[in-house]
Amino acid sequence: MVTDAPSFERLVEAFRRLPGVGKRSAERLALHVLSAPAEDAEAFSEALLEARRKIRRCPVCCDLTETTPCTICGNDGRDHSVICVVERPTGAMAIEKGGSFRGVYHVLHGAISPLEGIGPDNLTFDRLVARVEQGHVNEIIVATNATAEGEVTAQYLSRLLERTGVTISRIAHGVPMGGGLEFADDMTLSHALQGRTTITKP
Ligand code: ZN
Repeated sequence: MVTDAPSFERLVEAFRRLPGVGKRSAERLALHVLSAPAEDAEAFSEALLEARRKIRRCPVCCDLTETTPCTICGNDGRDHSVICVVERPTGAMAIEKGGSFRGVYHVLHGAISPLEGIGPDNLTFDRLVARVEQGHVNEIIVATNATAEGEVTAQYLSRLLERTGVTISRIAHGVPMGGGLEFADDMTLSHALQGRTTITKP
């Protein structure tokens, strides 16, 4: 009986801490781990630990990376004067997959959400402002998600950067409403980037 196995309960609890996983799903995942080959469980836990050990935030763009700086920030072939601001690493991944963006990124690691208690101080705005203040930045493309939080974050960003004199633009919303960038297909994303509108211009 798994009910008298405390390690099973611990495994279920560990899965429950993952986003979007309820008690029933956590139990199903735990049972799956126990019925799958032992090598699978070992490979899974090793992948988890290795990623946690090796991956850090890039000191420049705050994206997750194994190198310092990340390969995009360290690439001289990219246009470092255009910074695309995204909420999460998955947003940068989605745009990168589209292949048409030649600038660099800045990852906020979330969006402003008073309901969830996430304010500007919890995000990486300070790093972005520091990058802009170092000069050489001409345009900030705000590619936060098409959600209420994403819009609030976009407005906050444009106010925050107003005085720096850079052009601030917002991606066009062919991006699905209520969705993150990772849910848009490559074509929609390239069009959203090309069809961006200027919010402020020096
Ligand atoms: Zn970087």
